[in-house]
Amino acid sequence: MAKKTILDLNVEGKKVLIRVDFNVPMHDGVITDENRIVQALPTIKYVIENGGKAIVFSHLGRIKEASDLEKNSLKPVACRLQELLGHEVVFVPETRGKALEDAINNMKTGDVVMFENTRFEDLDGKKESKNDPELGKYWASLGDVFINDAFGTAHRAHASNVGIASNIKETAAGFLLEKEIKFIGGAVDNPVRPFVAVLGGAKVSDKIDVVENLIVKADKILIGGGMMFTFLKAQGYNVGASKCELDKVELAKELLEKANGKIVLPVDTLAAKSFSNDASFRSCKVDEIAADEMGLDIGAETVELFDSILKTAKTVVWNGPMGVFEMPNFAKGTIGVCESIAHLTDATTIVGGGDSAAAAIQFGYASKFSHISTGGGASLEYLEGKTLPGVACIDEI
Ligand code: ADP
Ligand code: MG
Repeated sequence: MAKKTILDLNVEGKKVLIRVDFNVPMHDGVITDENRIVQALPTIKYVIENGGKAIVFSHLGRIKEASDLEKNSLKPVACRLQELLGHEVVFVPETRGKALEDAINNMKTGDVVMFENTRFEDLDGKKESKNDPELGKYWASLGDVFINDAFGTAHRAHASNVGIASNIKETAAGFLLEKEIKFIGGAVDNPVRPFVAVLGGAKVSDKIDVVENLIVKADKILIGGGMMFTFLKAQGYNVGASKCELDKVELAKELLEKANGKIVLPVDTLAAKSFSNDASFRSCKVDEIAADEMGLDIGAETVELFDSILKTAKTVVWNGPMGVFEMPNFAKGTIGVCESIAHLTDATTIVGGGDSAAAAIQFGYASKFSHISTGGGASLEYLEGKTLPGVACIDEI
């Protein structure tokens, strides 16, 4: 990448602003998936081990009204960061003002300060999310250099990434952002072939731009999940009560034509009587779905078909589960594809969706992938071929 990275910066004695993405799922104040915190550790460690002062910040959730503040405080995340880092983290429950400025001015080299959820600034006119010029300038004034390591937010131009970058002398990518770009960018722009993409998930409309971009770049696109039914409908099949976006059928038809055989659709499905794990269901061919049935997973024959194609791959990008994997009866397709990819020993394998990444982790295959992206939306936009503002704002070497 022609972007500056943390290794191009001299952090010694400097106040280093580090934008991380600690927008982690929480349940009753407990973090349920800390992948994003773990993945941000190398950058923070590097800064403190090289004599910098690490000022860490992130958004968490959405802030629309005052009642959103308490439940979206970053305090529990700061506590967990302190444990994972094995190093004191001073948490300042403010996003601006004297307490924050004093805490920063009192820092010694190697110290870590973390401040409150950047989106607390959204309460007053969406300053963070609308990249308010005053806010970016103010945050930039708190440090000497800026490191963007928040890949999960890189598809948004907010005050805490783009705003700071445009108001500070030096900006570089952290290790995580660099890694994400290396893997996802590498797969899309310069893949070792055959390059096989596996796409699933709920809606075609979420992923249509990805399909469009990957038709040009990938050698094969395997489609499962809820989105398969719009494509099957486009081929003239009856999909019963399955998830199907009628207004996207024409587009799906066009994509199938354009793909010229690159798109591979399921041959069988698990058809259920209702959207429930307790529903009665059967395995059937995709041309046998009855009017009162809905496909909730790909079938065993499709898992085999996908496996035979994945076996030939040297680069795999997987985005979106193959079925309603949250329900055990409809998780087999996702587990099957996950296993097929995990067993590839001579391929670069990347998982790039929030739910698919969670599935890979939940099924115990996390260590078998070359890379599990920390950015659902960001990785999707990257796969669509879009420029991410949070990457574009980083200085070129
Ligand atoms: P990701 O976060 O990996 O990009 P999405 O958010 O696009 O994935 O989609 C995930 C959701 O898709 C899951 O909640 C899953 O239950 C749902 N899904 C998968 N297959 C089906 C299907 N056949 N019918 C309805 N929903 C489905
Ligand atoms: Mg999702």
